[in-house]
Amino acid sequence: MVDLLPEQLGLWQHVEVTAREQFRRSAIREIRTPLLEVTELFARGIGEATDVVGKEMYTFFDRGERSCTLRPEGTASVVRAAIQHGLLSQGPQRLWYGGPMFRYERPQAGRQRQFHQIGVELLGFADACSDVEAIAVAWDLLAELGVGGLELELNSLGSAEDRARYREQLVAWLEQHRAELDADSQDRIHSNPLRVLDSKHPGTQALLAEAPSLASALSDASQSRFAEVQQALTALGIPYVLNPRLVRGLDYYSHTAFEITSSQLGAQATVCGGGRYDGLVQQLGGPATPAIGWALGMERLVLLLSQLKRPAAVASALDLYVVSRGEAAATQALALARRCRQAGLAVERDASGAAFGKQFKRADRSGARWAAVIGEQEAIDGVVALKDLRADGGEPADRRLSPEGLLEALGAALPRP
Ligand code: ATP
Ligand code: MG
Repeated sequence: MVDLLPEQLGLWQHVEVTAREQFRRSAIREIRTPLLEVTELFARGIGEATDVVGKEMYTFFDRGERSCTLRPEGTASVVRAAIQHGLLSQGPQRLWYGGPMFRYERPQAGRQRQFHQIGVELLGFADACSDVEAIAVAWDLLAELGVGGLELELNSLGSAEDRARYREQLVAWLEQHRAELDADSQDRIHSNPLRVLDSKHPGTQALLAEAPSLASALSDASQSRFAEVQQALTALGIPYVLNPRLVRGLDYYSHTAFEITSSQLGAQATVCGGGRYDGLVQQLGGPATPAIGWALGMERLVLLLSQLKRPAAVASALDLYVVSRGEAAATQALALARRCRQAGLAVERDASGAAFGKQFKRADRSGARWAAVIGEQEAIDGVVALKDLRADGGEPADRRLSPEGLLEALGAALPRP
């Protein structure tokens, strides 16, 4: 688990602001759920056979002896909340969430135990265009942030019936080749056979070239739905590559599955993953509700952005740096800083009481455009000397102003009485 320091957070906030704006334009509203849920939610919502539930959860008993889990992902909680608060009876829901997630994984670049996601869930949307709308929101967000080297990988898992049929074929084939599989894949033959397709083991990967393909198990209806998704992506000019091995290993996933990867990330190349999960709402006790969603990994996205040649300009936040010397001046500086903040300016007050020279150095380094100077004489006269920190060479004399005059000079909007 890592600390995020002020220096790094400029980029994080830039992503968050851009994402919020993208969601606003897309009529997607925020939802916030607790970090802690009863374990049962994830066991049912993600599935016992997955790595996340089987190996990665932070689970403990609370003082009431209930088994609790720090959320490893956002979808199950969002669906729980939507069911619990009857949101689904109010019509389709376009929701987004953001925040920390917890998985007990082996930490490495782009993989942490506490990490952050931003995600979108469209609940109550069945048509193929909704799949593409969801994908486009993610794609356009990444494009707007200036991320390069992106690739959209796409697959269809078909309907629940297609999957069940394919699962039988695949299990039979895997059983025939059990001895040639890696140990993890052997364990998954019955518990989560589709996930074997996703194995990173080179021997297993090579062997799988011969396995029955999911695509050939899709019904005509599923195939034409998948074709519709591809046509809509093409119509929007979003390029994609088909990846028949791309699976989301959970039972309730169906039809569209996708990942957005970047060639600029190392081994952890996936920035965003998502898909259709028509079975989940019902599985968690709600009304049958088609849905599609995705989640984006903030750490990996920020890593990408920090590699850009011209990282997104993160504006220096400070307008005014207040310098003072002497006790009476310090009180006036305090009052001035507060007055300016109330008027909407970002203000830092130098509290050191050091020599003016030192304070001015700090003022220069602060990135503020202006410095307000209150020395002993200014304190007696009740005025402030305003200094333009960007003025070069033929510097005009400092202006001596009243606090109100200073506010006016800086063009700040005065608060309403
Ligand atoms: P991976 O195959 O990389 O483990 P995943 O399939 O477990 O990914 P999802 O559950 O789909 O990931 O989560 C969506 C996104 O969240 C991922 O694409 C990734 O960007 C990010 N993510 C997942 N796990 C972590 C982690 N432990 N640390 C940082 N980011 C993560
Ligand atoms: Mg994972």
